[in-house]
Amino acid sequence: MSENKKAEKIVGVKGMNDILPADAPLWELFENTVQSVLKSYGFQQIRTPIVEPTALFARGLGAVTDIVEKEMYSFVDSMNGDQLTLRPESTAGVVRAALEHNLTYDGPKRLWYVGPMFRHEKPQRGRYRQFHQVGAEALGFTGPDIDAELIMLCQRLWDDLGLDGIKLELNSIGNADERNRHRNDLVAYFEQHKELLDADAQRRLHSNPLRILDTKNPAMQEMVNGAPKLLDYLGEESRSHFEGVQKILRHNNIPFTINPRLVRGMDYYNRTVFEWVTDQLGSQGTVCGGGRYDPLIEMFGGKPTPACGFAIGVERLLELLKANGEQYTPNQCDVYVVHQGEDAQLQAFVVAERLRDSGLDVVLHCASASGGGSFKAQMKRADASGAGFAVIIGEDEVAKSVASVKNMRAEATDNNQVTVPLENVATYVLDQIVCGDECDDPTHHHH
Ligand code: ATP
Ligand code: MG
Repeated sequence: MSENKKAEKIVGVKGMNDILPADAPLWELFENTVQSVLKSYGFQQIRTPIVEPTALFARGLGAVTDIVEKEMYSFVDSMNGDQLTLRPESTAGVVRAALEHNLTYDGPKRLWYVGPMFRHEKPQRGRYRQFHQVGAEALGFTGPDIDAELIMLCQRLWDDLGLDGIKLELNSIGNADERNRHRNDLVAYFEQHKELLDADAQRRLHSNPLRILDTKNPAMQEMVNGAPKLLDYLGEESRSHFEGVQKILRHNNIPFTINPRLVRGMDYYNRTVFEWVTDQLGSQGTVCGGGRYDPLIEMFGGKPTPACGFAIGVERLLELLKANGEQYTPNQCDVYVVHQGEDAQLQAFVVAERLRDSGLDVVLHCASASGGGSFKAQMKRADASGAGFAVIIGEDEVAKSVASVKNMRAEATDNNQVTVPLENVATYVLDQIVCGDECDDPTHHHH
């Protein structure tokens, strides 16, 4: 690079977002809520690699799905020629790991995960190339009870987050035989209406006609509405499983609508499929999708093991939280410590550590390019941090082994600054915070 040329800035990859400090607290709030809800149902976390062998997804998701056809970030490892892919979803990886470590040897398992996924899609609102999912996978459970439990777990999550207006849509896509019989009739129906099929639908007519039902093309809606419904092809077992799910949901007052056109993008789903949708996010309105995938584990070479799961799109859910007016901008710290002079700095470190020992969040003022800064400049920082208290240590304070503690929320006229012996600073601040507004009455003594 020539010396007089300014270095060119490198910008992030299109469709892959930075989560900035202003947004991070909302992510934390969400992830903490997720963690506690999943824990309350006995789910255990599993963390699998972001990179998997390409074959895992090619086999697991089905060759004619959107993901495998055109959305995967696949590459060859230049060191050894391995074909690798950035995970577009996590079910395949979780199932691979469960098989590899024989996780279900002693009975069924409830698992969950959270993390980034990668799909090469056209970036737009609610659709990114790196996005995040929280998901749960229940491996080894046969009955409709676990399907209902997963759905109720989602409902509890929305409730705990204070979200309403997320609606549950439910369907059953039966088993492979039932889908085949339906498929024959479906293809025949679409062929009768060939002039109405768009290019996408033409392409899918023989590869994946079920997906045509999922079309977003308004010109095709009426024709698609009249297509043979898979629900009418279900046999006795599939039907009673589906009834079983509905019965539990009804008993627990979980509202749902049956959407006969609901299918999932992945080939491995069977029986129960569900989506949680909202009309508050424009066209990317599905915040969670899930269902049963009994055939998958055997497809991966394991012994037949039923399974059921869901995945939540975190970006969409957080956008919904924001649209619902959720603002979560906690203060950077409880206490900001300012100081001036070498001895004061040493003392400030000690006081800051004592405050942290008491469980408080503390920012200790550190020098920047322009130096340590005047008290005035430092107090500006303290103010900007949102701290409730500033602890001030100057030469006078060091000489007397005290610190000044300023209540940043009180009026100056309100005697808002007191002098406290150094060893009492932590207890004093803690007492003020715990006691807070209730202690306005000076006769009130807090123990
Ligand atoms: P869509 O029809 O919107 O493409 P999908 O069927 O591909 O969704 P799933 O694979 O079931 O989605 O993933 C579960 C959830 O993950 C979706 O309901 C959505 O909330 C979220 N999601 C999927 N793809 C993206 C993406 N590219 N960006 C952001 N969120 C996504
Ligand atoms: Mg998709």
